[in-house]
Amino acid sequence: MSWDFSTDPDFQEQLDWMNELVRREIWPLEAIWHELGIDGLAEAIAPLQAQVKERGLWAAHLPPELGGQGLGQVKLGLMHEILGTSPIAPLAFGNAAPDSGNSEILAMAGTPEQKDRWLYPLLAGDLRSAFSMTEPHTPGSDPTQLQTRATRDGDGWVIDGKKWFSSNGSIADFLIVMAVTDPDARGPQRASMFIVPRESPGVDVLRDVPTMEHPWEQFGAYGGHSEILYENVRVGDDALLGGVGDGFLLAQQRLGPGRIHHCMRWLGVARRAFEMMCERATYRHAHGSVLAEKQTVQNWIADSAAEMQAARLMTLHAAWVMDTQGASAARVDIALIKFYGAKVLHDVVDRALQTHGSLGYSTDLPLEQMYRFARAARIYDGPDEVHRQTVARRILNGYSPPPNEVPSEHLPTRRAEARERFAHLLGALTAND
Ligand SMILES: Cc1cc2nc3c(=O)[nH]c(=O)nc-3n(C[C@H](O)[C@H](O)[C@H](O)COP(=O)(O)OP(=O)(O)OC[C@H]3O[C@@H](n4cnc5c(N)ncnc54)[C@H](O)[C@@H]3O)c2cc1C
Repeated sequence: MSWDFSTDPDFQEQLDWMNELVRREIWPLEAIWHELGIDGLAEAIAPLQAQVKERGLWAAHLPPELGGQGLGQVKLGLMHEILGTSPIAPLAFGNAAPDSGNSEILAMAGTPEQKDRWLYPLLAGDLRSAFSMTEPHTPGSDPTQLQTRATRDGDGWVIDGKKWFSSNGSIADFLIVMAVTDPDARGPQRASMFIVPRESPGVDVLRDVPTMEHPWEQFGAYGGHSEILYENVRVGDDALLGGVGDGFLLAQQRLGPGRIHHCMRWLGVARRAFEMMCERATYRHAHGSVLAEKQTVQNWIADSAAEMQAARLMTLHAAWVMDTQGASAARVDIALIKFYGAKVLHDVVDRALQTHGSLGYSTDLPLEQMYRFARAARIYDGPDEVHRQTVARRILNGYSPPPNEVPSEHLPTRRAEARERFAHLLGALTAND
């Protein structure tokens, strides 16, 4: 029997080192990272990246033969909890989305030539990438309806379609594009993935879609969500990732671990908001006492602590199932943490913001930014409703209607059965009267 909640002392030492580096060197950069721009930020974090590499923590999501650590999901999850505290930290550790997920696909399905051309430069930070699946006119929550087509043309392919919300599309050197290769195939086998250089003729990055996060028009900034037209884009057979029809399978393999990392990063954000809420409660004085003495605020603090703990244990458990039994065994656990973790993040940030009143709503604190970030978490990587549906369907698979549709726990029925079964005992009791 092994049932252990402790972290290996050696790895805990690594986590402590990460925590210290992130708080001491990375948090201070947050206040000026937009002023620094992409190049300035790259310069600022270069020395930190060198330290991370020296420490053996660079691109830890990848197997050792690709320069990663092969740590497994539990350890990666614990790392992401620390990295999630800052939007910049993943860059310093070589596992910022979407490059991290894209490097996982390339590592998993890329040919040696594809790895040489795209994966290794991506890992070295010499290239940037985007993942281009969602379309404006088909539901991203049901990608079997994708319309972007890749048609066979000689010994290559021609891609036509429109995508949007391809994060980092406007600064990417290449895009991994999901396109329908066989419209007549069964849903999951209809699509394939292609590596498309952004400079290919016919790739037109129309705009970075303004969002809650960036409500103003901007183009070419880190973290933009691009709308992209693919018009008669010709690529060779060497652009195909995996086999024809493997698109959804690869996407699933990419998203499983990615969701664990997202959830742990969300906990890093929630923890930071929580600490701000607790700090505020100690000194803001209203109606005769500090906020810490108001029962509502106490409830927010206690509920947040309980919910974060629950989300953390659920997420680490999902990671453990993945490590010990594989991705498909962890499917329900991963769906559970996706919607539960997004809600915990949202609720904790919302309470922290409320505790700060107008200051929380202002851009003088990072809470309003965290709130916008939290809202998106309920949509990307599959909207919460789809994950709830997955969970409920899997659970319901274990149930069937009771005989004659009488509920199994129906008391009058159970009583009649029990009277019959235990008639000898009841008879003895009557005889003793
Ligand atoms: C910040 C951010 C970054 C993103 N980055 C990327 C990226 O890099 N690459 C990429 O390809 N995409 C990206 N996306 C897109 C994202 O994956 C999609 O938005 C998501 O899959 C949902 O698709 P949709 O927007 O088309 O919504 P729809 O599929 O139209 O769904 C709309 C709503 O319908 C409801 N709904 C759907 N299905 C069900 C159901 N079964 N039961 C009940 N209700 C349901 C849900 O409430 C859902 O929110 C990003 C999105 C965001 C917000």
